[in-house]
Amino acid sequence: MISLAKILFTLAAVFGVWSLFSLIRKGLSGGTRLSAAQRAAEAARRATEARMAGREAAPPPAEVELVRCTRCGTFVPRGQSCPCGHQPER
Ligand SMILES: [Zn+2]
Repeated sequence: MISLAKILFTLAAVFGVWSLFSLIRKGLSGGTRLSAAQRAAEAARRATEARMAGREAAPPPAEVELVRCTRCGTFVPRGQSCPCGHQPER
């Protein structure tokens, strides 16, 4: 049988664990130690930044003139044959 005391004890235990964790999190937020999720997020952010920086540093791609395939309508670079096998006009 579940008594009121048991319910209160469970709530107190949950609250205690929760406050303990929030205290630990608060204590670590200023330090260098990060949780696995925080480290993953940081790594992802850095990877994205590196990719963005690389994209900005890279020279703009050479202009490619696209021609529309007269059979299927796909745009392919001039001089290349379409994936459908049709050779667009040059
Ligand atoms: Zn085609």
